[in-house]
This record gives sequence, structure tokens and C-alpha cells, in this order.
Amino acid sequence: MLDSGVLVLNRVFQPVHITSVRRAFSLLYQGVAKALDEELQLFDFASWSALSAAQHDAVQTVSRRIRVPRVVVLVAYEHLPRARVRFSRFNIYARDDSTCQYCGRRFPRSDLNLDHVVPRSRGGSTNWENVVCSCVPCNLRKGGQTPEEAGMRLLRHPARPRWTPVFRNAARRAFYREWMPFLSMAEAAYWNTELLD
Ligand SMILES: [Zn+2]
Repeated sequence: MLDSGVLVLNRVFQPVHITSVRRAFSLLYQGVAKALDEELQLFDFASWSALSAAQHDAVQTVSRRIRVPRVVVLVAYEHLPRARVRFSRFNIYARDDSTCQYCGRRFPRSDLNLDHVVPRSRGGSTNWENVVCSCVPCNLRKGGQTPEEAGMRLLRHPARPRWTPVFRNAARRAFYREWMPFLSMAEAAYWNTELLD
């Protein structure tokens, strides 16, 4: 329980990383972070430990049971981690949710290709902005053409995803529904994908 995951948000409620319950309590106790409940109310350590722990995960101290927070908010921190998401096949599939970006259908990863939106032969580069998931039939139909030439439309404009490597490393931990309001669709999709693997 003490090692299970707690989502850490910065001062403006953006996810920063996942920490352990042990560390989250330490942040709370030091006054560096506040706990957030389902109604998005913030609690300092004293007011949080006064809440009822019934029907919640809780830790037992000498004198009482204290409810485990699943989301904490750093009081003074407003930066996002600067680390970048690695540009890899795995992460491109995760960003695109294993969905062909031309026909919009989901496929097992083994049935997907990576497609250069602007073909390499036409000077297209290999980066987050020009590589998308594509199924084999769409890939063949597009061939060496741009989407416009092939009469195909992208589901959405490809971009570098905003989740961080901190999230990737934490992804094998359990996922808590209390985190959902703070994660983008891409992050949530990523999590599901990782768990299914
Ligand atoms: Zn397709």
C-alpha cells in the first residue's frame, strides 16, 4: 500500500509524475503538497488526516487510520518536467492509440505500419510531426504520395505527445480512476495499452 501510486500535480493541476504513497504523505506532512479529494477540494495534512478513512484505502498509524490520497498538488511547483518522450515505434503506436490515422480503425500492433505523411522520397522527415500509424491497406493505397495526392485525410495533425518518461516508467503501476480528470486522452490511452500488453 505504501508503495502504490499517487499522481502528483503542479500548482496549476498539470500532472508532473507518479510518486509512492509513502512519499506523498511525506510531502503532505512537510506542507509541500496538499491532498485532493474527488470533489477537487484541497486538504493539508491535518485536515486530510481528520477525514474518515472508511471505504477508502488507508494506512494505519499508532492512533488512527488515515485515508490514502490518490492525487496530491504541489503548493509551489509550476513547471513540467523537461524530459522528452522518446521517438520510438512503441510510443508512436501509443500516441495514435493503435489506430490507423487514415481510416480510423484500431488494429493489433502487428497489423500496423508507420507511415511518413510526406514520403521520405519527397523530403519528408522522420519525426513526431511526420510519422503516423497506418494499417497495411491504407499504407499501400497511399504509396509514395502525399495524403492530398492520394485523396486521403489524416484523423488529426501528428505532434509530439505531452506525456513524460516519468509516466512511462510508472505505467506498470496500478491506475486509479481518481487520476482520470488530470490525464489527457493520449495519456489515458497509453495507460490502457500498456496494461493490456
Ligand atoms: Zn487504415
